Amino acid sequence: MKLVVRVKLLPTPVQAEALEATLHACNQAATWAAGVAFEKDARRPLELRKHTYAEVRVRWGLGAQAAQHAIKKTCDAYTTLKANLRNGRYGRPGTRRHTRASGKPVVFRPDAAQPYDDRMLSWQHQARTVSIWTTAGRLKNVAFTGQAGQLEVLAQHRRGESDLMCQGGKWFLIATCDIDEASLNTHPAGFVGVDLGVVNIAVTSEGTKHSGRRINRKRENDRKLRSKLQNKNTKSARRRAKKHAGKEARRARDINHKISKRIVAEAERTGRGIALEQLTGIRERARLRKPQRTTLHSWPFAQLGSFIAYKAKKAGVPIMYVDPAYTSQECSQCHHTARANRPSRAVFSCRVCGFVDHADHNASHNIRQRGWMAWVCGARSTAPELTLIA
Ligand SMILES: [Zn+2]
Repeated sequence: MKLVVRVKLLPTPVQAEALEATLHACNQAATWAAGVAFEKDARRPLELRKHTYAEVRVRWGLGAQAAQHAIKKTCDAYTTLKANLRNGRYGRPGTRRHTRASGKPVVFRPDAAQPYDDRMLSWQHQARTVSIWTTAGRLKNVAFTGQAGQLEVLAQHRRGESDLMCQGGKWFLIATCDIDEASLNTHPAGFVGVDLGVVNIAVTSEGTKHSGRRINRKRENDRKLRSKLQNKNTKSARRRAKKHAGKEARRARDINHKISKRIVAEAERTGRGIALEQLTGIRERARLRKPQRTTLHSWPFAQLGSFIAYKAKKAGVPIMYVDPAYTSQECSQCHHTARANRPSRAVFSCRVCGFVDHADHNASHNIRQRGWMAWVCGARSTAPELTLIA
């Protein structure tokens, strides 16, 4: 199972300068190679290398590996473009958008990510430093930092290439890790249904509730502060707003890690799978009063879903995605479905059989049943291949 870990580099000013010059050189070289590829219609690595390798090395001072990666990156970009054109991402052939996308060479941003292999980059996990190739020679002892859990994964399971990238003046390495996963539990004793929502971020059919009340209050305060800073619109206010946004995102990520960990542990302990609602459309589905709407729009449910998915996969817990339509209106006992079953947001009360339950809990049971039905009908556990955990 592949995982992606992001670590932050802490270069000295001199090191940062070398990294920046390197990234710019690699991307200028790649953009130039993309022009050659376009002109000569040479978009395969072997062919393009013939036309560009020598000049890329001399003109931009790239080492052998860096030159190869820059050329490979160019070819990959054309492959992606071709797939996008074919899939209609730029409209139909003949339209202006399509012609504009296909009628000119690919261009790379000066700070586009650059792949590094083990010959160009080595990791000293104990010292938390990397040694990295640049156009100004090899930089030794470039410090890095990251979350403890992720650094552990990195030290034990990193394989293959990493990407160097710069975002908002900060430097990152995105490393691919190959993790052993427990063999999949092919005979789950049932499923744990998970209902995601605004008031309660996650409620499971086992009765575990991950309340969002405290978090929502905090987020409401964050939102007020944000709009206050936006109205102020001075340089220092903007800086503060940016810093605060980072803090908010980190806190949300921590909470998502905790919730997903508990849900997966619960399923693993009881030998069950996890039934999760398909996350597309959670925003469209929810009809909410305005203050709640802002909360919903800003809570990273997709991230929570991906955390649950990768932790489940690692633990061998099967996951089923179910269609969440009407799970909040359906009675989990007699399956009568009506809007009138929900007299209020929190209460479920069936108009036919009289079953009463907390609304989110009732919904989680419906999700559990749908997951179980899909599993019994032979659908396979589906978890995404590559997940960003940073
Ligand atoms: Zn009922």
